[in-house]
Amino acid sequence: MVKIIKEIVIASHNEGKVKEIRSLLKPLGFKIYSAKKFKINEPIENGKTFSENSLIKSRNASLKSGIPAIADDSGLCVLSLNNDPGIYSARWAGKSKNFDHAMKKIENKMIKNKLLNKSSRRAFFCCALSIYFPNNFFRVFEGKKYGHIQFPASGINGFGYDPIFIPNGYKKTFGEMNFEYKERISHRSIAFKKMKRFLKQYKF
Ligand code: IMP
Repeated sequence: MVKIIKEIVIASHNEGKVKEIRSLLKPLGFKIYSAKKFKINEPIENGKTFSENSLIKSRNASLKSGIPAIADDSGLCVLSLNNDPGIYSARWAGKSKNFDHAMKKIENKMIKNKLLNKSSRRAFFCCALSIYFPNNFFRVFEGKKYGHIQFPASGINGFGYDPIFIPNGYKKTFGEMNFEYKERISHRSIAFKKMKRFLKQYKF
């Protein structure tokens, strides 16, 4: 029997992420809804890993909307800071979602702990992309992009911590790359490629 997905909801209230996920999903051809359309609330992310938090969001959105849901949980991990801010990446920006403040917080910690050489600035972005179906079937796919962080922040593209992250093999921060370019190489696109392989068994 051919399994069919006609529509999907993106379980995120982060406009930057919704834009990237929407663009990655577009070629697959199903109808894409935002969490806002179904008035889906933001559940409490009390998981201990990116994957757990991703599933909390996709499960909540799928069970509330009655259609398959895709969620992303992601963040920036700085190796010398014990992988902080990690799953707390959004929370470091506070209620006002001020990422200048969050980036400054990282910089201050690194200055305080004398972690300024390139090896101390090694970091990676992690993305756990999950898909959850209303019958409680689910899958999670992970993507990581390694690089290092650099201060001062540079670039006005993207969102979140993009202006301080330089992926390995590049001289520009994600914030200095254009949307299409970042989309091709990001942690999110690595996770998405894995999800796309899984979705091949479905008809749209
Ligand atoms: P959450 O997954 O919604 O809990 O939030 C993850 C946070 O990590 C986002 O708010 C961003 O600040 C940060 N983040 C995740 N992916 C990216 C990215 O591609 N660029 C910059 N920041 C990111």
